Amino acid sequence: LTGRLQDAFSVLRKKGKITEADIDEVMREVRLALLEADVNFKIVKEFVKNVRDKAKGEEVIGSLTGGQQVVKIVNDELTELMGGELQELNFSETNEPTIFMMTGLQGSGKTTTAGKLANYLRKHKKKKPLLVAGDIYRPAAIDQLKTVGSQLDIPVFEMGDQVSPVEIAEKGLETAKENNHDLVIIDTAGRLHVDEELMDELAAIKTSVRPDEIFLVVDSMTGQDAVNVASSFDELLDITSVILTKLDGDTRGGAALSISSATHKPIKFVGTGEKLSDLEPFHPDRMANRILGMGDILTLIERAEEEVSEEEALALAEKMREQTYDFNDFLDQMKQVQKLGPMQDIIKMIPGLNSIPGLDDLDLDDGQMDWTKAIIYSMTEEERTNPNIISQSRRRRIAAGSGRSLNEVNGMIKQFNESKKMMGSMTGGKGSGKMDSMME
Ligand code: GDP
Ligand code: MG
Repeated sequence: LTGRLQDAFSVLRKKGKITEADIDEVMREVRLALLEADVNFKIVKEFVKNVRDKAKGEEVIGSLTGGQQVVKIVNDELTELMGGELQELNFSETNEPTIFMMTGLQGSGKTTTAGKLANYLRKHKKKKPLLVAGDIYRPAAIDQLKTVGSQLDIPVFEMGDQVSPVEIAEKGLETAKENNHDLVIIDTAGRLHVDEELMDELAAIKTSVRPDEIFLVVDSMTGQDAVNVASSFDELLDITSVILTKLDGDTRGGAALSISSATHKPIKFVGTGEKLSDLEPFHPDRMANRILGMGDILTLIERAEEEVSEEEALALAEKMREQTYDFNDFLDQMKQVQKLGPMQDIIKMIPGLNSIPGLDDLDLDDGQMDWTKAIIYSMTEEERTNPNIISQSRRRRIAAGSGRSLNEVNGMIKQFNESKKMMGSMTGGKGSGKMDSMME
């Protein structure tokens, strides 16, 4: 179905002069795409009406670039609704520590995200965070935060479950000041549904420590209900920003649009996996592309930059040039790619690829990478560094050792040799110099 929207867009782009009927036609597809991405239906209705009015008002009808203009209006309006551009965090402007408070329903991702944020801000803003365990109701909540803290080597302040969350927040703040922490992140309890008791408690914490940010953490798979949840929290707490979690996997992120239009509060981060490094700043324009099913190549590039250091990349290029690229390098490279996320997710971020019919059913599991790795692990160090010595008898031994067939081992080695040859010619390896001459 997303493919249908892209088709409609490309037909429209190619058309010279467009008619009112063309606009209605493409807006039908936009409407379907939004509903499919789980955007709240009322918001879809309003959005489609706005864009249609705008398109018809802007004299695109009859204009030679009318089609392109309509596509742009759809994209711009979506981006605008989600806040326009990247929104920065609010930090304390005094010498006092910055205070962040996590709120949201149970299971939305507050505790995990508290850790992710602490980790992110330590890395990117040189902050010295303290996590505060304010969820005293779920039996394992304090331990969960402590586990997160110890994984990240970030301290956790707790007072057990017999003290009120307000007092824990206050004492946590004092402790932070005593130990020169400049960032305090307070984890709080959630319920399965919005209820008065919970809201009163959150409001009491807010009044007491006056956070710089009150984050509403929302599970992006909440779908249609996201609007109600977000509106209630916002009415009762006046949240400052939103963090959308679980935007990995299949969710197209319609919740982002629903929440933005319902609360007019900026979404600042998105959680994209269970690992504590899976947190990314929220870019409205990229999310607009994602909701429309148009991929997100920029985020993919950023992830690659984050995970693969420049030295690693340069060292690899050098090896390719000198043709010393061997199975150990191949292994390293495979590990780097796997760091970017599951194959299914990566593919979805590449524009065009994400709309190929049947891609969802394709078994793109990471199994193939895993067995390729198994084959390499079954090679001796000498074989890995000198792939040329891998004779038939060695291949049979490797096959037996890795539990793969001889055919698979042969295929893998062949593929390695071919990509080595190709990379050699691309980077101007010995006997080629193609790239060098192209650069001149
Ligand atoms: P809380 O009840 O709001 O504190 O939620 P938790 O932090 O305990 O998270 C609930 C579950 O969601 C845990 O299993 C987390 O690992 C998982 N989770 C949180 N954020 C993400 C995310 O961005 N992606 C995925 N896949 N899982 C997440
Ligand atoms: Mg929790």
